[in-house]
Order: sequence, then C-alpha cells, then structure tokens
Amino acid sequence: MTLTSNIYPTRALQEADAAHHLHPFSEHRTLNAEGSRVIVAAEGVWLTDSEGNRIMDGMAGLWCTQIGHGRQEVVEAVHRQMQELDYYNLFFKTTHPPAVALAEKLAQLTPAQFNHVFFVGSGSEANDTVFRMVRYYWDLMGKPGKKHIIGRWNGYHGSTLAGTSLGGMKGMHEQGDLPVPGVSHIAQPYWYGEGGDMSPDEFGIWAANQLAEEIDRIGEDKVAAFIAEPIQGAGGVIIPPDTYWPEVARILKERDILFVADEVITGFGRTGEWFGSTFFGLEPDLMPIAKGLSSGYLPIGGVMVSDKVADVVINKGGEFYHGYTYSGHPACCAAALANLSIMENEKIVDRVRDDIGPYLQKKWIALGEHPLVGEARMVGLVGALELAPSKGDRTKKFANEGTVGTIARDTSFSNGLVMRAVRDSLILSPPLVLSHEEADELVRIAEKTLDDTYAILKRDGKVG
Ligand SMILES: *Cc1c(COP(=O)(O)O)cnc(C)c1O
Repeated sequence: MTLTSNIYPTRALQEADAAHHLHPFSEHRTLNAEGSRVIVAAEGVWLTDSEGNRIMDGMAGLWCTQIGHGRQEVVEAVHRQMQELDYYNLFFKTTHPPAVALAEKLAQLTPAQFNHVFFVGSGSEANDTVFRMVRYYWDLMGKPGKKHIIGRWNGYHGSTLAGTSLGGMKGMHEQGDLPVPGVSHIAQPYWYGEGGDMSPDEFGIWAANQLAEEIDRIGEDKVAAFIAEPIQGAGGVIIPPDTYWPEVARILKERDILFVADEVITGFGRTGEWFGSTFFGLEPDLMPIAKGLSSGYLPIGGVMVSDKVADVVINKGGEFYHGYTYSGHPACCAAALANLSIMENEKIVDRVRDDIGPYLQKKWIALGEHPLVGEARMVGLVGALELAPSKGDRTKKFANEGTVGTIARDTSFSNGLVMRAVRDSLILSPPLVLSHEEADELVRIAEKTLDDTYAILKRDGKVG
C-alpha cells in the first residue's frame, strides 16, 4: 500500500460513526471496537482510505462499478440533468426525457423478448416489484390460484421483506420469521459444496430436478414463478454445472410458470455478455436489474418485462397500484445513460469476453494449484476461491465455518486488495475496466494473501 496524504481525521470519523450509524450487514460490537475503515476517494479500480492507503477495489464496490470509479462523463451528465430537471415523478400520466431515453436504451440492449421496463431504486425494490407483478399477472390471466413463488436456498434477491423471502439465506430468514407465506426454496446448484459423489454434470441434472419435484409437490396450478440468479453472487459465486440451466429451461417450458432471472449482478457485462441470460441461453419472462446499470454512481434499478407479461399487464390490466416516488429519477437515469454509453463506446462487454476476462481467468484458475485452494472458478470477471483444509477432498471443511474466510479476507484487505469472504471462500468481482497490469497486481496480491493465510493456519495447526 502506498501512503499518500492523510487529511481526514480518521479517529474522529470512526467515533462519530460508532456513535450514530447503524451499518448494513454488520456486527456492530466488533465494528465499533475496531473502528470502520473510512473510504474517502476512488479512481479507476483504486480506493483511497482516510489514512492515505490505496486499495484495489476487487469487488467493484458491491458488484456494481463496471466502468470503474471517478468517470467525469457520468458526473457531468448528472450535473447537467440536475440543472435542467432535478426531479419529477412518473405517476399520473407524466414522463420525462431521461426516463424515456433509458427505457428505449434498455429495450435495445436486453434480449429480444424485453421491450418494457419498470423503474425502481434498487435490486431489492426490483424483486418486490417482481413479487407483486407475477401475482397480478396470474390474476389477470384468470388464474388467481397461481401465487406461489419458488426460489433457491442460498440465493440472494435483496434485503426487503420480499427480497429476503425470495432469497434463501437462512440467517436472514431467522431474523423476523421469514419467508412470508407463499414462497419455498429448492437446493442450489453448488457442486463443490453439495455435489457429494456425483460428477458436476450428474449433480446439475439432480439440482434441476429439484425444481420439477417442488412444482409437482405444490401443484403446477398454484405456482406463479421460479426466481434464480444465473450465477449466485452473494451466495458465493456459484456457477452451475453445464447441465443445470438447459434442464431447468426444459422443465419450465413444459410447465406454465414464469421464469425470473435476477440479473442484478450478472447484468451489464459481468459474464462477458450483456446479460447472464445470454451467456447461459436462458429466456426469462422477467429480469430484475440494478447495480451495473448505473455502475453504482446513483441508485437505480428496474424490472425488464417481456412482451408476454407486458401485453397482459397493459392490455388486460387496469391500473397496477405499484410504484416508487423515485422510480426513474431523472438524475439516476442520466447516470445510467452515461454509464451505458461508456460501456458501449469502449466496447467494455466485448473486452470482458475476449480480452481481460480470459486473461484474468487463466491466472485466477492457476491459483487453484495453491495448497490452500480446493477450487478456483471464474466466468467473465466474477470468481471464487474455495479455501480447503485438505486439498483434493471436498468433504473436508474447516471447523467454525467462516473463520478462515474472514482471516483471508482481512489479510487481503491489509495486502491492498478488497475481496469478500463467503463461508470459507474468497470472492472477486472487479471493475470491468481492469487493465492487464492491474490484473497482474490483483493476482500477485491474491497469491500473497493465500500464502499469508496459509502461514497463519499452519502456525495454528489448522491445515495438514
Ligand atoms: C444486490 C442484489 C440484490 C439487491 O439489490 P439492492 O440494490 O442491494 O437492493 C438483488 N439481487 C441480487 C442478485 C443481488 O446481487
């Protein structure tokens, strides 16, 4: 880490933060005792903290900063928009130019069946919209019995009541007696962790068949939709075996059930295609989007609505009593438009598919040789390293799941690279503008992090 200037009063900021700020997804006693890391500036793939340390942003913020930090084109587009029209809503027969332009752009960029978008402020709001819209759709179709939604264990669809319920995070469910009624979950396609004796391909078929069984158990006439991330992000970058998605698609085609592909992470180039659905050849009916839509510069999301669903909502429905004050906020639309135009002009998605994606994947997969790594996987620019106490044996896990992951995550941070820990794996999802030199530096730090973590575990007798 390079020390530059320290112009921020770190200690005072930490104290005020501990005194007044409840953080998302944080355990406050430890956080307040240690003091939050204060991030004060960012440029490209680099963050600067209040002590002047430069840290590589290996998570693109929270899986969202596709174009990297600090792009002035976005700042200027938002500034211009705020001067012209700071805010107006889209309720009650009104619209405004940035919302129209962004809706048109999204219809063009998304797969052919999508020609309409419902704007929201976040991925969670997108999934709340999904929850209401699929039920509304089946009411309009004259099938009010179809209300049940199937999600997956360890899926993540946000943190609101609907998002938490559709997601399959058991810890989140336990806080507040969720999911809400009318939602159930099936096994995830996580071969490394749950594949048992099966080959990845066998396990992919098995996991897909859980969907068929769950639909049969509930009754096809009662199931409204199946929701899934093309690649589970927060669940630990779970890339399904090759056999999984074709089999799920086949099962859904045979049955009259809507398919919701949650593209909040996999959208906007993360896999080397504009959408994960294209990468895997999926044909969803609804597609929640957020994160990379604006590269996180301002909060905006949406639900892409296929012609099949939009036709019913528009032509059979009356007023859909749903919307947010900030649906399609003009400044957020301007940020998204500027972000998308950078992505198009600089051919960032092609670059992930043909250049930086393969470049980083090769080096990342090679980390799989490290004695601490049980599996290294990556698609596009999203990957994971499964840390294992005993190389080559997937059944052996570290005691107190999550402890080793946290040690490795903290080590990575002090070595100058933000990675995230999920269970005992390390997760990576860097900005899509990562250069070759930055990729080299990233892998160098990741390897040092593995060495350092291995040394700590060896010292403590936790690895063989
Ligand atoms: C982050 C995420 C969400 C929730 O988005 P927020 O903007 O945090 O509400 C939903 N789905 C997926 C797949 C996500 O990764």
